[in-house]
Amino acid sequence: MIKANDPTLHSWIQIAPDSDFPIQNLPFGIFQTDMKDPRVGVAIGEYVLDLCVLGRYDMFVLLDIDPTIFHRPYLNDFIALGKPVWRAVRNRVSELLRNTNDEISGNSELMHECLIKRSEVEMLMPVKVGDYTDFYSSQAHASNVGTMFRDPENALLPNWKHMPVGYHGRASSIVVSGTPIHRPNGQTKAPEAELPTFGPTAQLDFELEMAFIAGKDTPLGTSISPSHAEEYIFGLVLFNDWSARDIQAWEYQPLGPFLGKSFASSISPWVVTLDALEPFRVHGPEQVPSPLPYLSSGGHHNYDINLEVLLETEKGVETRICRTNFRHMYWNMQQQLAHQTSNGCNIRVGDMFASGTISGSEKGTFGSMLELTRGGTQPLRLVDGTERSFINDNDTVIMRGYGEHHGIRIGFGEVRTKVLPAFLQEK
Ligand code: MN
Repeated sequence: MIKANDPTLHSWIQIAPDSDFPIQNLPFGIFQTDMKDPRVGVAIGEYVLDLCVLGRYDMFVLLDIDPTIFHRPYLNDFIALGKPVWRAVRNRVSELLRNTNDEISGNSELMHECLIKRSEVEMLMPVKVGDYTDFYSSQAHASNVGTMFRDPENALLPNWKHMPVGYHGRASSIVVSGTPIHRPNGQTKAPEAELPTFGPTAQLDFELEMAFIAGKDTPLGTSISPSHAEEYIFGLVLFNDWSARDIQAWEYQPLGPFLGKSFASSISPWVVTLDALEPFRVHGPEQVPSPLPYLSSGGHHNYDINLEVLLETEKGVETRICRTNFRHMYWNMQQQLAHQTSNGCNIRVGDMFASGTISGSEKGTFGSMLELTRGGTQPLRLVDGTERSFINDNDTVIMRGYGEHHGIRIGFGEVRTKVLPAFLQEK
């Protein structure tokens, strides 16, 4: 067992039992305050632990790393040091926060300087994303969409059970939780209309996804096998793959998603390491037919992570509109990475790979409005009595996720995004 995951560990910091950030989690992120420029922090209970300050106080001196690695606006340089280093830093932070250790708790000056309330910091993008891929790996989602858009008899396309289907997205528009987005403008054509028109989307949607972040470069012309893929994964975040369904429906053939997707994607700010998620490994669904050998991956490669989506109206009324679980994904992250690199395409530290919309097979477990409202034909009724077919201006979409094992909750915090009206188009 990874020592930092030991469920019997306790911190000298008081942590609520329902906190996403107990001592067994220790996710990495980038934060800033009025007094401090961007730097690396670790979430612990209601606090951020400033690793830059810990470095200055020689708390990592035995690890033989340059402590200024934590004084960076992105995690990329730290991640590039490799898995043994992330693991050693996480273990060291775990040690410093245990109730049996007084290196911080016994030094009031250090304690005052390195612990900041999470409510007082601004979280920034944790990584500089070079490339972003979005997969389509939930069978229930692919079937729901295939049923609505094409044919219930042949909901899955012939390739779907042979490879984790995906497309290349836009990295520049990935934003961190708390960043509002504008309703996108775009070209649409109603089925009965003769000609397309241009204007704000009428079908703004979210997609509940998780994304993993690459932790190691590969050279061009090489591939990763499923059995080695975990060496290349730093950690995971929650991912909202915003989508404009009317733009998407008109533009997507023959080359796939484009402007109906690229206007924005939102992520949670804390990267939960694959190490911290170790207790939540589960078997994935049986894969029939067996994937080709380059995609073959036996064992426990799915993760039991509870997920939910809430819609908050402009007046602050919250309605939970979806509950599902990451464990149901048909294709796992190992297979996604093996497939991504199978043609020799290289990956780089900080690249992001999103799962595809995570849907279950029952009502209330669908990870998009498209599915929850059957393409807008069956609007959802919110707690305040209003209805939604898609997302309105000034609505806020919130996604949360956590795993729970032996009474320890390892959470992701949230990704929260407010939708602003469409911006004025330059003529
Ligand atoms: Mn997606």
